[in-house]
Amino acid sequence: MIFVDSHCHINFPELAANMDDVLAQMHQNEVVCALCVSVNLADFPQVLALAEQYPHIYASVGVHPDYEGVEEPDIARLVLLAQHPKIIGVGETGLDYFRLKGDLEWQRARFRTHIRAARESGKPLIIHTREAAADTLRIMKEENASEVCGVMHCFTETWEVAEAALAMGFYISFSGIVTFKNAKQIKEVAQRVPLEQMLIETDSPYLAPVPNRGKLNQPAYVKHVADEIALLRGISTDEVGRVTTENFARLFKLEHIVQ
Ligand SMILES: [Zn+2]
Ligand SMILES: [Zn+2]
Repeated sequence: MIFVDSHCHINFPELAANMDDVLAQMHQNEVVCALCVSVNLADFPQVLALAEQYPHIYASVGVHPDYEGVEEPDIARLVLLAQHPKIIGVGETGLDYFRLKGDLEWQRARFRTHIRAARESGKPLIIHTREAAADTLRIMKEENASEVCGVMHCFTETWEVAEAALAMGFYISFSGIVTFKNAKQIKEVAQRVPLEQMLIETDSPYLAPVPNRGKLNQPAYVKHVADEIALLRGISTDEVGRVTTENFARLFKLEHIVQ
């Protein structure tokens, strides 16, 4: 079997402190690589260092919408940092109206900056959206995000939102949330998304999937996300792992990871 964790934060101290174990667990569970996603510019050097040190770790560059009052990236800066061969995507970016309230025009402006930087750098977008689906899709359309492509990560929205993103050529990534008993809507979306436009992720250290719910999450647990999707679709975990690995390689232009 073969799996890829398309979205994790292994640079966060909980996981970074045990990197040898995190990598050993990945190896034992056939997780061939993981994408360590940036959340702000201050931590970017650590994220890049992990990608430079470990062949199976890739990274992205971006500033998460939940980080208010941090150094604001401009297009040129993002494009410059995205030139590194181990930086394979731009993000995570997007909109989050759940965590932050009030005038969030700065989030929308930051999101547009990332879409423009992704276009210029030719690297796909990693989009986070929470309680902001309509604005997220509107800005994606206004900025022609379909020309850039990317992934809607940790998907928790309706089928209609998934459909709109799929129509723009985006991939839909499912996290451990899909394994939670009460996640009825997400399970339904996971049954309907075309397999060839699906990715799996942990978003670790958060959101550990069942049967590890409540524990510290790690990339090795992405296998449980694959198990749940396999169950929902009546296919094998092996097929979910293989196809989502191929999808990851296609989206992020890493053909060599698929043996
Ligand atoms: Zn996110
Ligand atoms: Zn994340």
